[in-house]
Amino acid sequence: MSRAIEKMWDLLNDLEDILEGGYKTARVKLRVATSAASPAARPAAKSLTEGGTGDTGSAPARDTLEAIEAEVRACKRCELGLERIKAVPGAGPRNPRVFVIGEGPGAEEDRSGIPFVGPAGRYLDKWLSAIGLSRQTDTYIGNIVKCRPPGNRDPGPEEISACIPYLMRQIEILKPRTILTVGRIAAQVLLDTTRGIGAIRGQVYRFHEIPLVATYHPSGVLRNPEYRQAVWDDLKALKSLLDEA
Ligand code: SF4
Repeated sequence: MSRAIEKMWDLLNDLEDILEGGYKTARVKLRVATSAASPAARPAAKSLTEGGTGDTGSAPARDTLEAIEAEVRACKRCELGLERIKAVPGAGPRNPRVFVIGEGPGAEEDRSGIPFVGPAGRYLDKWLSAIGLSRQTDTYIGNIVKCRPPGNRDPGPEEISACIPYLMRQIEILKPRTILTVGRIAAQVLLDTTRGIGAIRGQVYRFHEIPLVATYHPSGVLRNPEYRQAVWDDLKALKSLLDEA
């Protein structure tokens, strides 16, 4: 990782401090994620198109992102579909270098139908930019559940189970080079674990042979700037994976 990129990350965080109220936080040096080994975490799904309990897991013979988007926009398979304004299927280029996966849409995403807009989305864009990635050309962005849980609560097990086949189908079609999960729920679901994100992050996993890095959610880091160093370590691990590929 070049010094120039490290400097860019510092500048980015300084800018964030100013935007968040002008304070300057002490950077906490946490352990560097260096492991490239695949730990014992098990993937949530047996196969990519066998990822949940519902018939959305039975992908058509020639599945497409457009077909998934249309199904998601009409979907009422769980209660989240009854309260949403807009479903948020996901967005980004085909053949992405990274599939960023969060837990579910927030209020702004619910209104726009676009994943990761608002302050957390803008912060995520800066993370990607810091390692030379862009949302437009390199990154597909989606969520575990495609409709907003009311009040930004965690999605429930039945909602996740109903919705996860859509994500599995997206992964199957997109074949991303890497996966970056942001936040506790996405990591727990894909790695089939109940550990907290602080315990999960810091190593590289494999999800159906795709290298997976887990880190904090941008909105959590905006509220807790002490996580920035950990995020930067995780982004560097992701960048190394991409460079190797
Ligand atoms: S969250 Fe998923 S399963 Fe539930 S209604 Fe929305 S698209 Fe359908």
